[in-house]
Formats: sequence, C-alpha cells, structure tokens
Amino acid sequence: MTTNWEKIRIDFPILNRTVNDQPLIYMDNAATTQKPKQVIQAISHFYENYNSNVYRGVHTLSGEATQVYEDSRQKVANFIHARQKEEIIFTKGTTASINHLAQMLASEVAAGDEILLTYMEHHSNIIPWQQLAQKVKAKLVYVDITDDGKINLEDYKNKLNKKTKIVSFTHVSNILGTINPVQEMTKLAHEKKAIVIVDGAQAVPHFPVNMQELNVDYYAFSGHKMLGPTGIGVLYGKKEWLEKLEPAEFGGEMIELVKEEESTWASLPNKFEAGTPDISGAIGLGAAIDYLEAIGMENIKKHEEDLLVYLYKKLIKIDGLEIYGPRNLQDHSGVVSFNLQGIHPHDLATALDLEGIAIRAGHHCGQLLMRQLDVVATSRISLYFYNTKEEVDQLIQALEKAKEFFIS
Ligand code: PMP
Repeated sequence: MTTNWEKIRIDFPILNRTVNDQPLIYMDNAATTQKPKQVIQAISHFYENYNSNVYRGVHTLSGEATQVYEDSRQKVANFIHARQKEEIIFTKGTTASINHLAQMLASEVAAGDEILLTYMEHHSNIIPWQQLAQKVKAKLVYVDITDDGKINLEDYKNKLNKKTKIVSFTHVSNILGTINPVQEMTKLAHEKKAIVIVDGAQAVPHFPVNMQELNVDYYAFSGHKMLGPTGIGVLYGKKEWLEKLEPAEFGGEMIELVKEEESTWASLPNKFEAGTPDISGAIGLGAAIDYLEAIGMENIKKHEEDLLVYLYKKLIKIDGLEIYGPRNLQDHSGVVSFNLQGIHPHDLATALDLEGIAIRAGHHCGQLLMRQLDVVATSRISLYFYNTKEEVDQLIQALEKAKEFFIS
C-alpha cells in the first residue's frame, strides 16, 4: 500500500461524484466515513460466494462464513491490542455497546453510588447512564471542562471518590476534537476502584489505540466511522470482567444448555452475541482494518495532524470566526467546531453544500456541551486521511464567500 494520499482517493468511488455540480468535498467524517472499494467488495464477495449463517451448520458455506467472521474478530483484537479475540464482542455500534454495558453493570451499582461522566460526552454516553442511575437510584456526576475545551483534571480528581463505581468518558470529543489523557484518567479511577469505560468512536479510526497501554476495563467504537459498514461495532472488555457479567440479550447462539426453567450461557464471546449477528458487517469491518493497517495508523495520524494544522492556520485568519476546543493542536484530532458571527450554522452548512462541501451543523448529540459553550449549535468540520489541502483551500474560499453573502 502506498502513502501517496492522492492515489488513495481512487479507492473511494464516492469521492468522484459531484454535489450541486461541484466535486464533492466530504468533511463530515465524524458522522460517518466513506468506504473504499476493498470494503464494498468484501461485503459483496460474502453475499455472492459464501453467504450463510455462522456457527449453525456443518455445511461448507457455514464453515467458511464462520471462519471469516471469526477472522474479523481476531483482526479487531490485533488492531486495538486486546489480549485475545474473546475480549471482542460485536455489537451494532458505540451506542449499542454502551447501552449493553449500562444494563449489564446494573448489578455493580447500588443506591447512592456515583457514576462519573464529563461535560463533553456524546448523548450515547449519557442517556444509558441516566437510565441506569434512575433504575438503581445512583447519582450522576459530571466533570467540568476547561475554557479551551479539555477535561478539567483537577475537577476530575476532586469528583472521584469512594462512591464512584463507574467512570465513563470519551477518548476524543466529537465536537471539540480534544484528545483526552485516557491512561492517566484510568489510573486515577482505578485507584478509587472504579470501573473505567471509554467511548472510542472518534479515536480508533484516527490513531493507534492500545488496550494494554490504556488499561481501560471496557472500550466501545463503531465500524462505520473507520471505513466499515453501518450496523457493526465493538465492545471490548477485559476477559476477567466479561466472564463475570450477565448478558443483556438472550436467545439463540448465546446459550450452552437450555432447560425448561433456566439455561446456562455459552463461553466468551458468544455469551454476548444473541441471535444471528451482522455477519457481512463484521466481514466489512475486517476489510476496513486490513485497509487501515496497510496504510499504517501512524501514517494516518501524522497525515491528519498535517491537514489539521493547515486548516487551523487558515481558519483563525477569518474575521469573526470563533473556534471551540484546544488551541494546542497536539491534543487535537481532525475535528474542528466553530461559529461564524452573524450566521446560523445551518445556514452556513447549506451555503457550503451548494459548493459541494459536506460539513455538519447542529448540537452534534452534545447538548450538555453546547450549554457549557453557551451556544445552541456549531458548524463542524471533521477530516479524514482522504481529505486534501486543496479541499481545505476550497473550503476556506467557500467560507469567505458565505460570509460575504450573509453579512454584507
Ligand atoms: N460517541 C461519539 C464520541 C460519537 O462521535 C458517536 C457518533 N457520532 C457516538 C458515540 C455514537 O456512535 P454510533 O452512532 O455509531 O453508535
């Protein structure tokens, strides 16, 4: 695989299309990423050649499907440096992973216990915990963020205490682009014997992530944000934890012995995968990981950092443009949220769409953070490795044009 970034774009058929008669410039990668033909082909190859249910049959097709499905699990395990593939549970995505956890961990949380979150969480790392807290009468506590959009570590240390049973926070903010110090935060939480859960939806696609280094207890992410298809995601858990947990879903595939009144569960990871899984999704995710690894996650990280610096330097020169999030770009992913004075983010996103440029506008599933920033919405640019500096130039031109149109 080459790191000729221009050449890589050829693998993404959608990047050839036009929008409103302009070449598409896709900068909404935090919402979902585009798919290379290698991923699309892996999925159609499955349906055309060995479509079958997994585990259930002794016939050849089922054996082949099971093999490739399990190979994908191994690829995920290797990609995030899990100790073994049994620590990888396939889910529908980050939201599903966190929902499962919040249900399964109900037995670990009692009335009066605390669940520690931060003000930069995506709704999918808030609402499942609200549900759990209401059910068991636990208390939700939120860690403040600093003026430049980082987790306030002093506040984090102060709010961690003996009552803290669960700490759940994002690795990378989907709004501010902040990269959080997961290793340090995990160590502090473990000193208080809390369970650590990390939302890795915006991290795993963009830089190397290593479960052994981070030492978190659980980690969740989505396939569609890392070149894979929608409908497949991952819940990583340390084996010793997963073995103890009761599943959240019940039915076929997850049992060992079924009796009239009660049943026993299969061993990991099947215990947590009730019913027919998203087989083609897992296969697509495996192909996405192959693709990312062929480029190299370190290369992707460096390239995105480069693009970010290029973008940021141009954005700060635009009068009336306020950027939210860390000013130190070392703690920053390729996600940049901003507002242009006098223009509603939805109007801006619509104006850019007329130029073929896709960015996001709204609260980005972060209403608590919007309130902290004292805004109702932001515009958000989110880069991936297939974006180019020429696209950034065109974006900047379109922003200037929109500004002239709306403000003059
Ligand atoms: N957490 C973060 C930080 C996200 O950015 C997203 C997706 N926007 C999610 C969770 C939810 O991911 P999904 O919709 O794939 O479940």
